[in-house]
Amino acid sequence: MADPDCIFCKIVAGELPARIVDEDERTIAFMDIAPATRGHALVIPRAHSTDLLSIARDDLSAVTLASQRLAGRVKERLGADGVNLLNSCGRAAWQTVFHFHVHVIPRYEDDPLRLPWVPSEGDQAQIAAVAQELTGR
Ligand code: AMP
Ligand code: ZN
Repeated sequence: MADPDCIFCKIVAGELPARIVDEDERTIAFMDIAPATRGHALVIPRAHSTDLLSIARDDLSAVTLASQRLAGRVKERLGADGVNLLNSCGRAAWQTVFHFHVHVIPRYEDDPLRLPWVPSEGDQAQIAAVAQELTGR
């Protein structure tokens, strides 16, 4: 169940220090060591799984509910104006630690974070074509 080379498994086992802020039967949440904003934390399943595509459904549900709980708490206790939940699945999507985790990132009106893309209207034919690829219809 635990991966001996995984730093988040080591945090779950108490072998690496972490500022734990929430826990339940299936999940723990702790402060990110390199916070994007004040209060940035990570929610992980206790059981090792690499990413979104391999995590067990019950663990995914539990992590999602724990993320919602923590999102409420950062608004209440830290005075956040909003919250981003972020999951990166795969190296190409910025994943660097291969134990599933959801970033809970408190947002403040004056914080420096920006969307990593510039929204602009897409090509309708291309959107329709890719929708077809996705549905197989
Ligand atoms: P990702 O890049 O989405 O895989 O996120 C990994 C996150 O884990 C990064 O935001 C790191 O700052 C954070 N991180 C790495 N090692 C630790 C650690 N020992 N304790 C807390 N956070 C960590
Ligand atoms: Zn792990």
